[in-house]
Amino acid sequence: MAIMITDECINCGACEPECPNTAIYEGGAEWELGDVTGGEGDAAPSGAEGFFSDEFFYINPDKCTECKGFHDEPQCAAVCPVDCCIPNPDIVETEEELLAKKDKLA
Ligand code: SF4
Repeated sequence: MAIMITDECINCGACEPECPNTAIYEGGAEWELGDVTGGEGDAAPSGAEGFFSDEFFYINPDKCTECKGFHDEPQCAAVCPVDCCIPNPDIVETEEELLAKKDKLA
């Protein structure tokens, strides 16, 4: 399951440097994945949509492994002062899928 950032985000920026997969972007910033970039209205390479925000930090779900392979728990959620980094109910993945994603991103 990818992690998502809710609209309770206060834009403190604590999460972004903690992500081992550089999956977190400041609101309005374009994401990058390999040689693909995207912004408002663009789907991720997997087809995932609706994750971009121009108001709050956001997570590209194609790059989030829930920190599997790096840490025991999602680091963004661990450092978030308002607990707005939560599992995305629309993107459910097994541990095997998350680890395969990590290998693909490496
Ligand atoms: Fe990055 Fe881990 Fe948060 Fe996913 S759970 S966005 S990999 S810090």
